[in-house]
Amino acid sequence: MSKIYPKVDKETQIKYRKGELGDLLKKHRDTKLNDIKSELIDYKSKNLKLVNYLKYFNPVEELYNELTKNKKSKKSYVRLNDIDKKSSDKVSNVTVKTIAKIEMCMCKVSYITDFHFENKKIIEINRCNNRFCPMCSKILSSYYALAYQSVVDYLIDEYKVDIYFLTLTYPNVSSNDLEKSIREDSRLLNNFLVKNKTMKKVVVGILGKLETTYNNDRKSKSYKTYHPHYHYLIAVPKNIAKENCWMLEKDYILQRWREYKQDDSITQVDIRKLKHKNEYGIHTGVLELTKYIAKDSNYLINKDVFATFYNSLKGKRQYRPSGIFKDAIKKFKNGELNNYIKDQYVDYVYKITYSHINSNYEIKEFRDLTEEEKVIIQLSYKDSIVKQFNNSEQD
Ligand SMILES: [Zn+2]
Repeated sequence: MSKIYPKVDKETQIKYRKGELGDLLKKHRDTKLNDIKSELIDYKSKNLKLVNYLKYFNPVEELYNELTKNKKSKKSYVRLNDIDKKSSDKVSNVTVKTIAKIEMCMCKVSYITDFHFENKKIIEINRCNNRFCPMCSKILSSYYALAYQSVVDYLIDEYKVDIYFLTLTYPNVSSNDLEKSIREDSRLLNNFLVKNKTMKKVVVGILGKLETTYNNDRKSKSYKTYHPHYHYLIAVPKNIAKENCWMLEKDYILQRWREYKQDDSITQVDIRKLKHKNEYGIHTGVLELTKYIAKDSNYLINKDVFATFYNSLKGKRQYRPSGIFKDAIKKFKNGELNNYIKDQYVDYVYKITYSHINSNYEIKEFRDLTEEEKVIIQLSYKDSIVKQFNNSEQD
């Protein structure tokens, strides 16, 4: 977004879109269009895998269709749902509506791109917003990165704080223990980092995030185990002398974390000041924090792994803000931190719409953006990030 590409005159743009330019440019364009298509096909196949898993664990939909052939039998659906919830080998809280929404996800996707297709952005998509949908979670994580970077910049400006990036881990757990472990962590971490008097001496705000990975390496000792871990952004006023921040030393945190978890085999904690930003002005720590709750390459490995991930993470809060982070996020949601949202300086010229038809993606529309659309895209950019952030929070 910080890259600025040379402007290209209107006539050349139209020729380019129609493929009337030199072979080299035409080839470049076709390659880029195909790349987008391949990416969509890839995401859609993962999305459909998710649908299949959900249907496998919740065959209620087929039964529902069977049972509702006539109006009378619709009543029995209520009972069917009750049975579904009690059964232990289901993934919980999945309704026919949820499945249908995920199935419809990405059936139409519109991008805007610059002349060279170096920058592309989705501007319209029918999204399911499900936490386990690979496309939706990818889109959401980019909104989260922009949102939390704005929050961080605001806190540094207004509250004169340093932000630390803390990572807490512990040895891998089995499929059976994952849900219980994550549930317990929530309480422990709150006691350790938020309520703890020692921490309160210097820490004025915290934003935590749960992330879980799966070990699929046959050669590893931890093969087929799960690795929940936590990333935190911690705000500490700059004017607090370094010697008073001893509770943020790595050794101290490790020792206390072992005590809280009652596990001396814990060896890894990491804490460092947030420093480096990428080319888009986002701190590497913020990117790490917002990337995902679980990788699709992990939770879509097979049905059993999926059920473990789904049942352990469903309903768990992904982000846990407190103190000045909580206040700042509220402000962000109200649109009060829009000045802190990183601007984009891309000269978007095309709109391309892909439709999902017969397990393929076809280009339904490829046209120049009107001058009016360009202005609207620019002006609504920040509001749309706030809106998307608010929508995802209700999930
Ligand atoms: Zn989706």
